[in-house]
Amino acid sequence: MEQKLIIYNTLSRKKELFEPLNPGYVGMYVCGPTVYGNAHLGHARPAITFDLLFRYLVHLGFKVRYVRNITDVGHLVADADEGEDKIAKKAELEKLEPMEVVQKYTNNYQWNMQMLNILPPSIEPRASGHIIEQIETVKKILNSGYAYESKGSVYFDVEKFARENEYGALSGRKVDDLLSNTRELEGQEEKRSPLDFAIWKKAQPGHIMRWPSPWSDGFPGWHLECTAMSTKYLGETFDIHGGGIDLIFPHHEAEIAQSKAANGKPSVRYWMHNNMITLNGQKMGKSLGNAISLNEFFTGSHPLLEKAYSPMTIRFFMLQAHYRSTLDFTNEALQAAEKGLARLMKAVGTLETLKISEKSTVDIAGLKEKCYAAMNDDLNSPIAIAHLFDGVRIINSINDGAEKINEAGCQELKSFFKSFIFDILGFKQEERKDEGGQEILSNIVDLLLNLRIEAKANKDWGTADKIRDELTKLGFEVKDTKDGFEWKLKK
Ligand code: ZN
Repeated sequence: MEQKLIIYNTLSRKKELFEPLNPGYVGMYVCGPTVYGNAHLGHARPAITFDLLFRYLVHLGFKVRYVRNITDVGHLVADADEGEDKIAKKAELEKLEPMEVVQKYTNNYQWNMQMLNILPPSIEPRASGHIIEQIETVKKILNSGYAYESKGSVYFDVEKFARENEYGALSGRKVDDLLSNTRELEGQEEKRSPLDFAIWKKAQPGHIMRWPSPWSDGFPGWHLECTAMSTKYLGETFDIHGGGIDLIFPHHEAEIAQSKAANGKPSVRYWMHNNMITLNGQKMGKSLGNAISLNEFFTGSHPLLEKAYSPMTIRFFMLQAHYRSTLDFTNEALQAAEKGLARLMKAVGTLETLKISEKSTVDIAGLKEKCYAAMNDDLNSPIAIAHLFDGVRIINSINDGAEKINEAGCQELKSFFKSFIFDILGFKQEERKDEGGQEILSNIVDLLLNLRIEAKANKDWGTADKIRDELTKLGFEVKDTKDGFEWKLKK
């Protein structure tokens, strides 16, 4: 089945038929995290959104090179040109080398992404590993005349660029409005205009992360890394650039201008942005006391959480909303998502035991088509999931004998239902946990008590007694019953 994918392009503000530059091949770049703290809910949304896109493109048969960077240098507080480096600040606080901070939180990010069953990108480049490429990009922009050196730093000349090129198309901002809304800030005397941003910044004494360059010992501006690394790995023009809508301005607007200045042409064909997450109707933030890390969600260890929510519950909850809609996290909504996901997964199990009939009374091809149509309509995962629940109803009715399915229909249902759930939406079976998350423990106790039954059958009374006595010592109450055993953990 030939699928035509339509995606909403933030730049044109229209849904467009996706046609890659090179047939069969997709180059895709997504702005990754700045690694100076534990991964939180806000990190999960772009990661899940573009994982869905990555998975779907691969499912459709495209060869995808997916690049998602790690920002480990040059991202200053308040996303501005002045102030401390976010990572250096954290290093000072935690008494670590900046690169230890970077490694620690990169590991944390990657672990959390793995928990959410997010596929690793094809390339995960670090800004600090691409200083040479960034210096080369600064040189190209200087050569084009859209940047100037000032006291060892190099600034992008936004006003000059905007006079000769289109600027602000992505965010819909105009230079005149921006100018009238900008306060003159301290430290901006180096710049010709307050709109200019640093592409190379001279390091102040005491600034740890610094590299030699033709202009000064310093470090690249935050916006520059994405231009340098996307060009390096995907070429001067590539298909898709993604990120959260909070990155549209200034970050992505700056990327567009930098690429045009450096390479003389627009870099990105389709811009895609996921919307934001709120928590109980509020914006999330450290100062609001509601920045919950993903690990806190997985373990339930945050005062705002009524219980732990598994990674797949979080994933399911996010995919139940369209990526361009805002999404509000509440305990109630998460618990509803948990039940929904359980129902979906139960149906996957039931699928394996369906009775085959001579004739089918159900329309599997129609259902499949609706699921693809939803995905092709700008990755409408909530509609696709709603259709999968129609599938759950069909599976349950066949199981109850109210509907019938033949061999071919059953094969088609199995293959499409499972490929949607596991390959495209990226869910995985999670261990069921009882109230206290004791599933693994229960399995081990059951295993030991089964070994005890075997020992008794072999008249190995010593081993049998030892297993019971040791479990009793550990606080388990073990009872022999007619069909085996019962046990509980004494409180
Ligand atoms: Zn970026």
